[in-house]
Amino acid sequence: MNRRQSLGQHFLLSDSIAKSIVDFAKITKNDTVLEIGTGKGILIPFLCHTAKNVISIERDQKLYLLARQKYSSFSNLSLKHGDAFKMNLDFTVLVSNLPYSKSREAIEWLIQKKFRAAIIMVQKEFAQKLLSKPGSKNHRAISVLANYSARIEPLMEVSKSNFFPAPKVDSIVLRLTKKHNMSKKTIDTLNKLFSYRRKTIRNIAKQFRVSIDSNKRLEDLTDGEIIKLAKEINRN
Ligand code: SAM
Repeated sequence: MNRRQSLGQHFLLSDSIAKSIVDFAKITKNDTVLEIGTGKGILIPFLCHTAKNVISIERDQKLYLLARQKYSSFSNLSLKHGDAFKMNLDFTVLVSNLPYSKSREAIEWLIQKKFRAAIIMVQKEFAQKLLSKPGSKNHRAISVLANYSARIEPLMEVSKSNFFPAPKVDSIVLRLTKKHNMSKKTIDTLNKLFSYRRKTIRNIAKQFRVSIDSNKRLEDLTDGEIIKLAKEINRN
C-alpha cells in the first residue's frame, strides 16, 4: 500500500455533496468545528461560512501547504499539519470524510472526546457494522462502543464515482450525537472481551480472573449490558 492509499486520499469532487454534509451538521456561530483530513479543502468554505472557528488537520504536508495558500483569506480557519488522532483539541462538532483505514481508530478516538455532534463519511461496510442490531453477526466491539456512546443515524449514500481517485466501495454519511462518555480503559477491555466472543460470559470473565455465573454469550447481551460487564471487569 502506498502512502496515498494508506492515508485514504480519495477526494470528494461534488460541491453539492460537500454542502449537504456541512448542512447535516447544523453548525451555528457558537461552534468550533474540527475537520480531520483537509485534503484539497472542499469542505473548508462551507465550514468557515457557518462556524465560529474551524480547525482542519491534514497529515500530508504537501496538502497542508496547498491549503495554507488557497484558504489564507478565512480569518476563522486554523490549518494544522499532523496526525489528528494524536492532537488534543477542543471542538463542539466534528466533520470528516474519514480516511477509510482509520475509521475504527477515529471512532475510538471520538467517543473519548466531549462533542455535540459528528458528521462522518465512512465506507458502506463499516457503516453497516455501526448500524447493525445487537446480537447480529456484524455487531462487533466497535458497534457496541459507538452505539453506547452516541446515537447513530445514516444520512446519505455517496457513490464511489463522486471521488477522485475513485475508491472501490461506496460511502455513507453518518451523524453521531453524543450520549455517554467512554474511557480508554473501557474501550480496551471491551475489545479484549470480543476476542473471546465465542465463549460464555462465565468463561470470558475467568480470563480476567473474575467470577460471573452466566451461560450467556456476548451476542445475548444488550450494548449497555456489555459495557456494564467491561466496567465490572475493570473494577476487579
Ligand atoms: N476532506 C477531503 C475531502 O472531503 O475531499 C479529504 C478526504 S480524504 C478521504 C482523507 C484525508 O485525510 C486525506 O487528505 C488524508 O491525507 C488525510 N489523513 C489521513 N490520515 C490522517 C490523520 N491521521 N490526521 C489528519 N489527516 C489525515
